[in-house]
Amino acid sequence: MKGRDVMGDELLWKVSEGDSVNLKKYDPAYVASSVKREEADQQLAALGQELGELQELLAAAQHHSILMVLQGMDTSGKDGTISHVFSQVNPQGCTVNSFKVPTPEEAAHDFLWRVHKVAPAKGMLGIFNRSHYEDVLVVRVHNLTSEDVWSRRYKDINHFERLLTENNTIVLKFFLHISQDEQTARLRARTEEKDKAWKISVSDFAERKYWDDYQKAYADALSKCSTKEAPWYIVPANHKWYRNLAIAQTLVETMRSYKDEWKQELEARGREELAALQQLRDRKEVTDL
Ligand code: ADP
Repeated sequence: MKGRDVMGDELLWKVSEGDSVNLKKYDPAYVASSVKREEADQQLAALGQELGELQELLAAAQHHSILMVLQGMDTSGKDGTISHVFSQVNPQGCTVNSFKVPTPEEAAHDFLWRVHKVAPAKGMLGIFNRSHYEDVLVVRVHNLTSEDVWSRRYKDINHFERLLTENNTIVLKFFLHISQDEQTARLRARTEEKDKAWKISVSDFAERKYWDDYQKAYADALSKCSTKEAPWYIVPANHKWYRNLAIAQTLVETMRSYKDEWKQELEARGREELAALQQLRDRKEVTDL
Protein backbone atom coordinates (compact mmCIF):
# COMPACT_ATOMS: atom_id res chain seq x y z
CA MET A 1 0.00 0.00 0.00
CA LYS A 2 1.39 3.37 -1.02
CA GLY A 3 1.12 6.72 0.66
CA ARG A 4 -0.88 9.25 -1.31
CA ASP A 5 1.03 12.21 -2.62
CA VAL A 6 1.71 14.76 0.04
CA MET A 7 1.74 18.40 -0.89
CA GLY A 8 4.71 20.59 -0.01
CA ASP A 9 6.27 19.89 3.37
CA GLU A 10 3.14 18.45 4.87
CA LEU A 11 3.50 15.23 6.73
CA LEU A 12 -0.15 14.23 6.64
CA TRP A 13 -3.22 14.56 4.42
CA LYS A 14 -5.68 17.40 4.60
CA VAL A 15 -9.14 16.43 3.39
CA SER A 16 -10.48 19.09 1.04
CA GLU A 17 -14.11 20.10 1.24
CA GLY A 18 -16.16 17.80 -0.98
CA ASP A 19 -13.51 15.02 -1.15
CA SER A 20 -14.83 11.50 -1.05
CA VAL A 21 -12.44 9.71 1.27
CA ASN A 22 -11.44 6.09 0.75
CA LEU A 23 -9.28 5.23 3.75
CA LYS A 24 -7.70 2.26 1.94
CA LYS A 25 -5.82 4.78 -0.19
CA TYR A 26 -4.02 6.24 2.82
CA ASP A 27 -1.10 4.29 4.20
CA PRO A 28 -1.19 4.28 8.03
CA ALA A 29 2.58 3.54 8.06
CA TYR A 30 3.45 6.41 5.73
CA VAL A 31 6.58 8.45 6.48
CA ALA A 32 7.33 11.50 4.33
CA SER A 33 10.73 11.31 2.65
CA SER A 34 11.74 14.65 4.21
CA VAL A 35 11.54 13.13 7.69
CA LYS A 36 14.37 11.21 9.36
CA ARG A 37 13.59 9.06 12.38
CA GLU A 38 16.85 10.02 14.10
CA GLU A 39 16.01 13.73 13.89
CA ALA A 40 12.38 13.43 14.86
CA ASP A 41 12.70 13.67 18.64
CA GLN A 42 14.70 16.88 18.38
CA GLN A 43 12.23 18.30 15.87
CA LEU A 44 9.31 17.46 18.14
CA ALA A 45 11.04 19.14 21.07
CA ALA A 46 11.61 22.30 18.98
CA LEU A 47 7.98 22.29 17.82
CA GLY A 48 6.85 21.77 21.39
CA GLN A 49 8.77 24.83 22.49
CA GLU A 50 7.34 26.93 19.68
CA LEU A 51 3.87 25.65 20.52
CA GLY A 52 4.38 26.85 24.09
CA GLU A 53 5.37 30.32 22.86
CA LEU A 54 2.47 30.52 20.42
CA GLN A 55 0.06 29.45 23.11
CA GLU A 56 1.30 32.25 25.34
CA LEU A 57 0.50 34.71 22.56
CA LEU A 58 -2.90 33.10 21.95
CA ALA A 59 -3.71 33.44 25.64
CA ALA A 60 -2.51 37.02 25.89
CA ALA A 61 -4.21 38.22 22.69
CA GLN A 62 -7.61 36.80 23.77
CA HIS A 63 -8.78 37.08 20.20
CA HIS A 64 -9.05 33.46 19.05
CA SER A 65 -9.51 30.07 20.60
CA ILE A 66 -8.24 26.80 19.21
CA LEU A 67 -10.15 23.55 19.13
CA MET A 68 -8.25 20.41 18.32
CA VAL A 69 -10.36 17.30 17.83
CA LEU A 70 -8.73 13.88 18.15
CA GLN A 71 -10.52 10.84 16.81
CA GLY A 72 -9.32 7.38 15.91
CA MET A 73 -9.93 3.69 16.43
CA ASP A 74 -9.21 2.21 19.86
CA THR A 75 -5.42 2.18 20.55
CA SER A 76 -4.78 4.74 17.78
CA GLY A 77 -2.96 6.99 20.25
CA LYS A 78 -5.26 9.83 21.25
CA ASP A 79 -3.94 9.88 24.83
CA GLY A 80 -0.32 9.49 23.71
CA THR A 81 -0.67 12.40 21.31
CA ILE A 82 -1.93 14.66 24.09
CA SER A 83 0.89 13.81 26.45
CA HIS A 84 3.67 14.06 23.83
CA VAL A 85 2.59 17.05 21.75
CA PHE A 86 1.52 19.29 24.63
CA SER A 87 4.31 18.59 27.09
CA GLN A 88 5.62 22.18 26.92
CA VAL A 89 2.30 23.98 26.94
CA ASN A 90 1.15 25.97 29.96
CA PRO A 91 -1.67 23.88 31.53
CA GLN A 92 -3.46 27.11 32.53
CA GLY A 93 -4.14 27.85 28.88
CA CYS A 94 -5.41 24.38 27.98
CA THR A 95 -8.57 22.37 28.43
CA VAL A 96 -8.83 18.66 27.68
CA ASN A 97 -12.24 17.03 27.43
CA SER A 98 -12.88 13.32 26.92
CA PHE A 99 -16.24 12.21 25.64
CA LYS A 100 -17.54 8.89 26.90
CA VAL A 101 -20.92 7.17 26.76
CA PRO A 102 -23.35 10.04 27.47
CA THR A 103 -24.63 10.38 31.03
CA PRO A 104 -28.41 10.33 31.49
CA GLU A 105 -28.38 14.13 31.67
CA GLU A 106 -26.35 14.41 28.45
CA ALA A 107 -28.52 11.84 26.71
CA ALA A 108 -31.60 13.89 27.60
CA HIS A 109 -30.26 16.79 25.49
CA ASP A 110 -29.37 17.21 21.85
CA PHE A 111 -26.04 15.59 20.96
CA LEU A 112 -24.14 18.88 20.73
CA TRP A 113 -25.18 20.14 24.16
CA ARG A 114 -22.35 18.52 26.11
CA VAL A 115 -19.86 19.53 23.45
CA HIS A 116 -20.79 23.17 23.00
CA LYS A 117 -20.59 23.97 26.69
CA VAL A 118 -16.94 22.89 26.88
CA ALA A 119 -15.84 24.56 23.62
CA PRO A 120 -12.71 26.61 24.35
CA ALA A 121 -13.12 30.24 25.43
CA LYS A 122 -11.13 33.00 23.75
CA GLY A 123 -7.43 32.62 24.50
CA MET A 124 -7.74 28.92 25.29
CA LEU A 125 -6.46 25.85 23.51
CA GLY A 126 -9.08 23.12 23.80
CA ILE A 127 -8.40 19.47 23.07
CA PHE A 128 -11.22 17.00 22.50
CA ASN A 129 -10.30 13.37 23.16
CA ARG A 130 -13.18 11.91 21.13
CA SER A 131 -15.88 14.40 20.33
CA HIS A 132 -19.28 15.08 18.79
CA TYR A 133 -18.15 12.78 15.96
CA GLU A 134 -18.89 9.78 18.18
CA ASP A 135 -22.53 10.55 17.40
CA VAL A 136 -21.95 9.57 13.77
CA LEU A 137 -19.42 6.82 14.56
CA VAL A 138 -20.17 4.49 17.49
CA VAL A 139 -23.83 5.53 17.37
CA ARG A 140 -24.03 4.61 13.69
CA VAL A 141 -22.02 1.38 13.95
CA HIS A 142 -24.12 0.10 16.86
CA ASN A 143 -27.47 1.46 15.68
CA LEU A 144 -27.88 3.45 18.88
CA THR A 145 -30.28 5.71 17.00
CA SER A 146 -32.07 5.26 13.71
CA GLU A 147 -30.34 6.15 10.44
CA ASP A 148 -32.86 8.95 10.06
CA VAL A 149 -31.46 10.57 13.18
CA TRP A 150 -27.70 10.04 12.76
CA SER A 151 -27.71 10.91 9.07
CA ARG A 152 -28.99 14.42 9.85
CA ARG A 153 -26.11 15.01 12.21
CA TYR A 154 -23.43 15.66 9.57
CA LYS A 155 -25.29 18.83 8.64
CA ASP A 156 -25.74 19.75 12.30
CA ILE A 157 -22.02 19.23 12.87
CA ASN A 158 -21.09 21.46 9.93
CA HIS A 159 -23.42 24.20 11.19
CA PHE A 160 -22.05 23.89 14.71
CA GLU A 161 -18.44 24.06 13.57
CA ARG A 162 -19.24 27.05 11.37
CA LEU A 163 -20.72 28.78 14.40
CA LEU A 164 -17.46 28.15 16.25
CA THR A 165 -15.22 29.34 13.43
CA GLU A 166 -17.33 32.45 12.86
CA ASN A 167 -16.69 33.22 16.50
CA ASN A 168 -12.92 33.05 16.06
CA THR A 169 -12.35 29.43 17.00
CA ILE A 170 -9.65 27.84 14.90
CA VAL A 171 -10.77 24.25 14.40
CA LEU A 172 -8.43 21.39 13.48
CA LYS A 173 -9.59 17.80 13.39
CA PHE A 174 -7.16 14.88 13.37
CA PHE A 175 -8.08 11.31 12.47
CA LEU A 176 -5.35 9.01 13.80
CA HIS A 177 -5.18 6.39 11.08
CA ILE A 178 -3.81 3.00 12.15
CA SER A 179 -4.00 -0.35 10.38
CA GLN A 180 -5.90 -3.30 11.74
CA ASP A 181 -2.63 -5.23 12.14
CA GLU A 182 -1.16 -2.38 14.18
CA GLN A 183 -4.23 -2.36 16.42
CA THR A 184 -3.88 -6.12 16.92
CA ALA A 185 -0.21 -5.68 17.84
CA ARG A 186 -1.01 -2.91 20.32
CA LEU A 187 -3.79 -4.93 21.94
CA ARG A 188 -1.55 -8.00 22.08
CA ALA A 189 1.17 -5.98 23.81
CA ARG A 190 -1.36 -5.07 26.48
CA THR A 191 -2.07 -8.74 27.13
CA GLU A 192 1.59 -9.77 27.11
CA GLU A 193 3.40 -6.93 28.85
CA LYS A 194 2.55 -6.56 32.52
CA ASP A 195 3.14 -2.82 32.59
CA LYS A 196 0.64 -2.32 29.77
CA ALA A 197 -2.13 -4.58 31.11
CA TRP A 198 -3.79 -1.69 32.96
CA LYS A 199 -4.68 -0.26 29.56
CA ILE A 200 -6.84 -3.28 28.69
CA SER A 201 -10.45 -2.39 28.14
CA VAL A 202 -12.45 -5.48 27.31
CA SER A 203 -14.71 -3.47 25.03
CA ASP A 204 -11.71 -2.62 22.79
CA PHE A 205 -11.31 -6.34 22.12
CA ALA A 206 -15.02 -6.79 21.44
CA GLU A 207 -15.14 -3.79 19.10
CA ARG A 208 -12.56 -5.29 16.76
CA LYS A 209 -15.16 -7.19 14.79
CA TYR A 210 -16.72 -3.89 13.76
CA TRP A 211 -13.49 -2.63 12.18
CA ASP A 212 -14.90 -2.34 8.64
CA ASP A 213 -18.08 -0.64 9.84
CA TYR A 214 -16.02 1.93 11.74
CA GLN A 215 -13.76 2.56 8.74
CA LYS A 216 -16.81 3.24 6.63
CA ALA A 217 -18.34 5.51 9.26
CA TYR A 218 -15.04 7.39 9.55
CA ALA A 219 -14.74 7.75 5.78
CA ASP A 220 -18.23 9.29 5.67
CA ALA A 221 -17.57 11.66 8.57
CA LEU A 222 -14.31 12.83 6.96
CA SER A 223 -15.98 13.24 3.56
CA LYS A 224 -19.08 15.07 4.77
CA CYS A 225 -17.56 17.21 7.51
CA SER A 226 -14.24 18.47 6.20
CA THR A 227 -14.63 22.14 5.39
CA LYS A 228 -12.23 24.92 4.52
CA GLU A 229 -12.78 26.48 7.95
CA ALA A 230 -12.72 23.24 9.95
CA PRO A 231 -10.65 20.71 8.03
CA TRP A 232 -10.04 17.06 8.78
CA TYR A 233 -6.47 15.78 8.65
CA ILE A 234 -5.69 12.10 8.17
CA VAL A 235 -2.64 11.29 10.26
CA PRO A 236 -0.53 8.23 9.42
CA ALA A 237 -0.42 6.88 12.97
CA ASN A 238 1.17 3.42 12.87
CA HIS A 239 4.46 5.02 13.92
CA LYS A 240 3.85 6.89 17.16
CA TRP A 241 6.87 9.18 16.73
CA TYR A 242 5.69 10.18 13.26
CA ARG A 243 2.10 10.75 14.40
CA ASN A 244 3.32 13.13 17.10
CA LEU A 245 5.57 15.01 14.71
CA ALA A 246 2.91 15.34 12.00
CA ILE A 247 0.29 16.67 14.43
CA ALA A 248 2.70 19.03 16.19
CA GLN A 249 3.89 20.45 12.89
CA THR A 250 0.36 20.99 11.56
CA LEU A 251 -0.78 22.67 14.75
CA VAL A 252 2.30 24.90 14.97
CA GLU A 253 2.06 25.91 11.29
CA THR A 254 -1.59 26.82 11.72
CA MET A 255 -0.89 28.88 14.84
CA ARG A 256 2.15 30.53 13.24
CA SER A 257 -0.09 31.98 10.55
CA TYR A 258 -1.91 33.97 13.27
CA LYS A 259 1.22 35.09 15.11
CA ASP A 260 1.45 38.57 13.54
CA GLU A 261 -2.25 39.18 14.15
CA TRP A 262 -1.89 38.25 17.83
CA LYS A 263 1.18 40.42 18.21
CA GLN A 264 -0.59 43.39 16.62
CA GLU A 265 -3.52 42.80 18.97
CA LEU A 266 -1.16 42.94 21.94
CA GLU A 267 0.68 46.02 20.66
CA ALA A 268 -2.63 47.83 20.11
CA ARG A 269 -3.71 46.92 23.62
CA GLY A 270 -0.36 48.14 24.98
CA ARG A 271 -0.82 51.49 23.21
CA GLU A 272 -4.36 51.87 24.62
CA GLU A 273 -3.17 51.15 28.15
CA LEU A 274 -0.30 53.62 27.83
CA ALA A 275 -2.70 56.27 26.51
CA ALA A 276 -5.04 55.63 29.47
CA LEU A 277 -2.12 55.95 31.86
CA GLN A 278 -1.11 59.21 30.22
CA GLN A 279 -4.59 60.59 30.92
CA LEU A 280 -4.18 59.75 34.61
CA ARG A 281 -0.83 61.54 34.59
CA ASP A 282 -2.36 64.56 32.83
CA ARG A 283 -5.01 64.75 35.53
CA LYS A 284 -2.26 64.42 38.14
CA GLU A 285 -3.92 61.29 39.46
CA VAL A 286 -0.61 59.49 39.00
CA THR A 287 2.44 61.60 39.77
CA ASP A 288 5.22 59.19 40.73
CA LEU A 289 5.28 56.90 37.63
P1 ADP B 1 -11.20 5.87 25.61
O1 ADP B 1 -11.37 4.63 24.78
O2 ADP B 1 -11.57 7.12 24.88
O3 ADP B 1 -9.85 5.95 26.27
P2 ADP B 1 -13.23 4.72 27.23
O4 ADP B 1 -12.59 3.37 27.23
O5 ADP B 1 -13.93 5.17 28.49
O6 ADP B 1 -12.21 5.84 26.82
O7 ADP B 1 -14.24 4.77 26.00
C1 ADP B 1 -15.18 5.73 25.84
C2 ADP B 1 -16.31 5.08 25.09
O8 ADP B 1 -17.40 6.00 25.01
C3 ADP B 1 -15.93 4.72 23.67
O9 ADP B 1 -16.24 3.38 23.43
C4 ADP B 1 -16.81 5.62 22.84
O10 ADP B 1 -17.19 5.06 21.61
C5 ADP B 1 -17.99 5.84 23.77
N1 ADP B 1 -18.76 7.02 23.42
C6 ADP B 1 -18.32 8.29 23.29
N2 ADP B 1 -19.32 9.10 22.90
C7 ADP B 1 -20.41 8.34 22.75
C8 ADP B 1 -21.73 8.59 22.34
N3 ADP B 1 -22.14 9.81 22.02
N4 ADP B 1 -22.60 7.57 22.33
C9 ADP B 1 -22.20 6.32 22.67
N5 ADP B 1 -20.96 6.00 23.05
C10 ADP B 1 -20.05 7.00 23.09
